[in-house]
Amino acid sequence: GREWHLVSRPQGWPVPGDFALREAAVTAPGEGEILVRNLHLSVDPYMRGRMNDVKSYVPPFQLDEPMTGGAVGIVVASQAEGFAPGDHVLHDLGWREYATLRAKHATKVSGELAPLTAYLGVLGMPGLTAYSGLLEVASMKEGDAVFVSGAAGAVGSEVGQIARLKGASRVIGSAGSDEKVRLLTEEYGFDAAFNYKSGDVTDQLKAAAPSGIDVYFDNVGGDHLEAAINVLNVHGRVTICGLIAQYNDTEPPAAPRNLAMVIGKRLRLQGMLVLDHQDLMPKFFEEVSGWIRSGELKYRETVVEGIENAADAFLGLLKGENTGKMIVSLAD
Ligand code: NDP
Repeated sequence: GREWHLVSRPQGWPVPGDFALREAAVTAPGEGEILVRNLHLSVDPYMRGRMNDVKSYVPPFQLDEPMTGGAVGIVVASQAEGFAPGDHVLHDLGWREYATLRAKHATKVSGELAPLTAYLGVLGMPGLTAYSGLLEVASMKEGDAVFVSGAAGAVGSEVGQIARLKGASRVIGSAGSDEKVRLLTEEYGFDAAFNYKSGDVTDQLKAAAPSGIDVYFDNVGGDHLEAAINVLNVHGRVTICGLIAQYNDTEPPAAPRNLAMVIGKRLRLQGMLVLDHQDLMPKFFEEVSGWIRSGELKYRETVVEGIENAADAFLGLLKGENTGKMIVSLAD
């Protein structure tokens, strides 16, 4: 099978030459292990951080080793009780065609309950991030006006719709193209949306939120965070989920420049890691899958075909080529 290695650490924006697709031996499963043929791979923004050689909440990728990441696959051989060939599993050995792993590190998933790709997106890690980040971290309550950046992405599109379904007074989103902005208001039920590339973010947010905002779900950082601090109402709450605008920066960010407002407005800014919210998984899964079944929550995926295109899919994600979750599907 083939697998993707990181071969050099990107300085600034990653380039295709930082990655190499290499042939690797397929290992038969030992006691307690399963052999999985991957069907769908996840590429995620956090992987950019793992390409730097810095200590973080997840260790860096090692050079000339296979990268890891979320994947859904089919068991082809098993030496583990409870797992049989044909079972579908979610696990963390993505970026490769075949994975041999301890069965206790795999979660069985059902293609009948949901499409298999949903376990990497709307019903998986990004979905739980949206749900816990909005409801637990930002303590969103009925009547709040909610602003989310990166709103046409996997996490952001779910944040906005959950806010609507939980009784937000107004839901506002920002995204990087007019087409994405239309999707937010016409399909996802946002009250207002704007393209952050077509004007000043504070000006556009003020126009979209005449009565201010009570919650900001930050996927972007920089000028978006500055704009939100400008427009937040007293006692507003901010979930710092991601800062994608600066993941490829080689200099510290220029914004936000208005942190002093946090004092007068008594704002709460809180960082989050989805890992801390696994206990919410069953409740999240039940509630969100119900909304998907009833048609109240919609989602898109951008599917790139072929393991050979996985690095390009990751690079495309950083540039906004995806709408909803970016997935790499392998030939079945
Ligand atoms: P997305 O599906 O949102 O894809 C990334 C999107 O970021 C792109 O589509 C692009 O959309 C947008 N983007 C890229 N560069 C910029 C920029 N300079 N300014 C504004 N937007 C930009 O990814 P996810 O939903 O998987 O992740 C969203 C955020 O959540 C990321 O910051 C990620 O790191 C974070 N995250 C954090 C977790 C946690 O536990 N803290 C867990 C999971 C995700 P556009 O066309 O609109 O620019």
